[in-house]
Amino acid sequence: MTQQIPVLRVCISCRKTYDRKDLLKITKDYKQGIMLQKGMGRSAYICKSKKCYSDSKIKKKLQKALKTILEPEFVEIFEKEITSYNNYPH
Ligand SMILES: [Zn+2]
Repeated sequence: MTQQIPVLRVCISCRKTYDRKDLLKITKDYKQGIMLQKGMGRSAYICKSKKCYSDSKIKKKLQKALKTILEPEFVEIFEKEITSYNNYPH
């Protein structure tokens, strides 16, 4: 019997460790730019805690973690994605 070992990642806001599948992944893809939940490159993770995703500094933290400037278009998509988290049953 093989045991599933969860991949753990740290939330960029609260710095707590979570199972990767419980986090929103933002990747700076080396070809396609900023992507959500996919892409290859430098990645940052945010947990589903309201305190983290509604953090007013989250964009700054994200930009620092990804070492990039986020386009307003992306910020809009990102905010939609992250607020829809609220609708998921926990
Ligand atoms: Zn968090």
